[in-house]
Amino acid sequence: MALDHSTSIIIIGAGTWGCSTALHLARRGYKNVTVFDPFPVPSPISAGNDVNKIITARSSSFADDSDDEAYVARKLLEASMEGWLHDPVFKSHYHETGFIAAASSPANIAKLQQQAQGDKMSKFKYLDTPEDFRKTMPEGVLTGDFPNWHGWHKKTGAGWVHARDALISAAAEAKRLGVTFIPGSPEGHVTSLLYEQGDIKGAKTADGKEHRADRTILCAGASAVELLDFKDQLRPTAWTLAHIKMTPEEAALYKNLPVLFNVERGFFMEPDADNHELKMCDEHPGYCNWVNSPADGKRKSLPFARNQIPVEAEQRCRNFLRETMPQLADRPFSFARICWCADTPNRSFLIDRHPEYPSLVLGVGGSGHGFSCIPAIGGFIVDAMEGTLDPKMAKSYRWRPETAVNRDWNDTQGRSGATNEVMDFQKVTQWTAIGSESKL
Ligand code: FAD
Repeated sequence: MALDHSTSIIIIGAGTWGCSTALHLARRGYKNVTVFDPFPVPSPISAGNDVNKIITARSSSFADDSDDEAYVARKLLEASMEGWLHDPVFKSHYHETGFIAAASSPANIAKLQQQAQGDKMSKFKYLDTPEDFRKTMPEGVLTGDFPNWHGWHKKTGAGWVHARDALISAAAEAKRLGVTFIPGSPEGHVTSLLYEQGDIKGAKTADGKEHRADRTILCAGASAVELLDFKDQLRPTAWTLAHIKMTPEEAALYKNLPVLFNVERGFFMEPDADNHELKMCDEHPGYCNWVNSPADGKRKSLPFARNQIPVEAEQRCRNFLRETMPQLADRPFSFARICWCADTPNRSFLIDRHPEYPSLVLGVGGSGHGFSCIPAIGGFIVDAMEGTLDPKMAKSYRWRPETAVNRDWNDTQGRSGATNEVMDFQKVTQWTAIGSESKL
């Protein structure tokens, strides 16, 4: 069926990419769009429901501009930055405070240096001594010894975004333009796709209702693997984050800081203005949750929600603080959670019409870097639905099961930290005392 503005469209998932897609559909004039999610925006299990996310060019992507992947990365970055700088829905949530990338081992230091040299677009200041690092922030913030740290500081074109507020803003504008959101469980919780006559004709929700649509767009993040056989193209992988409560005086001192990111230790951004909580992540190649899927008995990494992190992750967070801000290293956490994303084998997104089900569109595979493009990503998902996606993007983001045959599930995919291995939640025995074993 040809598309027109009355085409009925279902989006499964009101997270980062689902809200962006809803907004772009509404802006293009589609009048019959419904978004399903087990939770109101911001969903507590959305990877985008977070106080902040980093925004910076993946500098290695620009090493050779004639290369197709570099073209795709540049096009995505330019469209996203256009949104962060000029779109009233997003621009107040972007903070261009700069970005410090660092590493501690010789191999990663060399890798970072190579990336910086390949990035002809940016200006860097190299940081070679503990004093160089300490001087990047006001006195009293970075008091650590920075053992073996080397890195660079990029002052412009990078920083952080208030993720949760940007997500809420995208959903609110989509709603204002006429998109219907069906939040909550059971009515918003999609349990299966509707398979009919060799196609997908909508979705079934946990209240037993069948919702028919001309197009179905699957944007369920890491949970998408529970609704479709992705032929091993998605690996749900989780990371760990924790918050520390700051005093109002500390929050004032920590305002407008550059993001500090050590690719082996972790990263932090300034405390959020409302609650004065400083968020940090310990860096590692991620955790999977290997279980036999109740749906088909196959061994899969399946996401689950938990407002706690493994004790080993807490220790890594505290070691990161000891090296950078020892004055905070023993302060109790005020919040912690695991946060899921879906990795493709090469960490490029998966945005395509399904080859077997013509009415199903996929917007998945955020691969750990899918938030910074929230202003633009929905536009590319709608392009895929309309068949107008830029050919190089379509090639990069295509349905590509051939790349996942005999997939190495332990591939760190270029990430470092902890033991430099992908870890398994099934082997974790101790969780932090903060928070609870959430039944979200
Ligand atoms: P999500 O935002 O997770 O949305 C999925 C939605 O689907 C949720 O709202 C969920 O409730 C809903 N859903 C689930 N199951 C169902 C169902 N059965 N029916 C209906 N709805 C359902 N990216 C960056 O660009 N910069 C960063 O600094 C950065 N940092 C990150 C740090 C961490 C710890 C993590 C985990 C990720 C980070 N990312 C970052 C990646 C980024 O957050 C994700 O790539 C992006 O949010 C993915 O968006 P999504 O829409 O695919 O998934």
